Amino acid sequence: MKNRIIITGGCGYIGSHTVIALIEHDFEVIIIDDLSNSNEQVLERIKKITGVKPKLLNIDLKNSFLAENAFRYNKDIDAVIHFAAHKAVSESVQKPLMYYQNNLCALVNTLMAMEKYNINNFIFSSSATVYGNPKTLPIKESNETQRPFSPYGNTKKMAEEIIDDVVKANPNLRAISLRYFNPIGAHQSGMIGELPNGIPNNLMPYITQTAIGKRDKLMVFGNDYPTKDGTPIRDYIHVVDLAEAHVLALNRIFSKEKDHNLEIFNLGTGEGYSVLEVIEAFQKVTKQKLNYEITERRDGDVPKLYANVDKANDILGWRAKMGLEDMISHSWQWEEYYHLEKKN
Ligand code: UDP
Repeated sequence: MKNRIIITGGCGYIGSHTVIALIEHDFEVIIIDDLSNSNEQVLERIKKITGVKPKLLNIDLKNSFLAENAFRYNKDIDAVIHFAAHKAVSESVQKPLMYYQNNLCALVNTLMAMEKYNINNFIFSSSATVYGNPKTLPIKESNETQRPFSPYGNTKKMAEEIIDDVVKANPNLRAISLRYFNPIGAHQSGMIGELPNGIPNNLMPYITQTAIGKRDKLMVFGNDYPTKDGTPIRDYIHVVDLAEAHVLALNRIFSKEKDHNLEIFNLGTGEGYSVLEVIEAFQKVTKQKLNYEITERRDGDVPKLYANVDKANDILGWRAKMGLEDMISHSWQWEEYYHLEKKN
């Protein structure tokens, strides 16, 4: 029998790519998603890519009654991968309570339902934002965490602390927290990718939307950082590589090997690129001229963030396979596909 996995937020950007990876590795997937920042159409595209249309429970996990029901009526779940969360940094600064309520209540309700129905394997979608402005680079999992700059980031840090308390109280529960650096790129088919609501916060969707003509110009937030060209450095990671890491994390959990009940892994390439390097690479790979302007710094940006990924490599057997050019060409392919599809 196939292992049956619940993926919360499985219609979203990283969730949908992970659903594809799991189906391709012969897992059965049930998605829980409230579709607040995603679209049901993704299920048809997953079917086109994998031949399987996963089951969707359109449920808001903030509601503890609905969360419990989802687990009550879907039996024999082997593990839960929890993506469901709001993720827009600037919106979280404007609406902190909405972020704390949504991201933390959904997490707590999911863990409570898992406890009630004796589901003991949990993977959490975390972020490098928990490192704040790191004192040493590349960042290891053993680096101290700091209070993140945004309520969004703080929900990730608080979520890890909640999970840590829960695994201490319940020795049967095994959890893995995956700290993503900067996920970009899209599925190689061009049919699935990032679909930001409104004006994008993140660099790559802003670049592709500018190049396709949806935005006037890209603002580069500051060029006076202590980096080689003055713009901040990030560790960009292909979303398909990231999705594969979830499969390996599940295998690790099912193998029963562990160092701790909550294990933490960085997921990045280990390579840092500046904003200007990304822009240059984009222009080279896509042959598109990008309209951009250097402006003021954005609040909360740190100069440099890049990962040491030895732990994921040694323990999960994971390493990113795709480089910046693949990430860019797949992001661009997705933007063009989506643009054409909307026109037709
Ligand atoms: N950035 C930018 N213009 C934008 C969006 C992002 O210059 O419109 C820069 C941002 O200042 C940061 C980098 O791109 O240095 C990556 O930002 P993103 O929001 O994608 O990810 P973050 O690292 O902040 O999570």
